[in-house]
Amino acid sequence: MMNIVIVKDLIKYAQRAENEGLCKHKSGNFSILDRSTGLVYITPSGFYRSDLTVDDIVISDLKGNVRENTNLRKPSIELSMHLKVYLKRPDVNAIVHTHSPYATAFAVKGIKIEPVTSEAYFYGKDMEIVPYFEHGTEELADAVSKVIKHVDVCLLKNHGILTVGDIIENAFLKAIYVESVAMIDYLSKTL
Ligand SMILES: [Zn+2]
Repeated sequence: MMNIVIVKDLIKYAQRAENEGLCKHKSGNFSILDRSTGLVYITPSGFYRSDLTVDDIVISDLKGNVRENTNLRKPSIELSMHLKVYLKRPDVNAIVHTHSPYATAFAVKGIKIEPVTSEAYFYGKDMEIVPYFEHGTEELADAVSKVIKHVDVCLLKNHGILTVGDIIENAFLKAIYVESVAMIDYLSKTL
């Protein structure tokens, strides 16, 4: 059985992330793990967030066995990255992956965002930089899962960012705050 509360929450924050400018068009992906059933709800691959309905959300178990989707959607190509993070972090039940511009600029350069304003406390101030691997590969999933044990934020080299949380709202807020701290850090350095 699909948990409709989880599905609606996932769509709400995926669309909110788009409205806040964290990701555009078809980039970025979002998931929630229901620990009571071991099922992961993830946004579909190559699909506009503004068009998402409950029947577009894809459900997988933690081993990557994907259930047939009502609207025949495929899971995000980053499903494996999400699953490997859940396996490493028993405290994490939601993952947000975006290509938000300021944070991604730091990721491109491989420079950590300095905790220059108080929003950084919300995500624990620190982050890891994950080396570049092609989108959707096991290598990328492995590289993220290797470092996610110690931080709630990863900068993915030449790609984007990943944040985790106990609930989707918190993973989303971390992504928001990482982007705003990155912007302030960048702007203040250029003054
Ligand atoms: Zn991406």
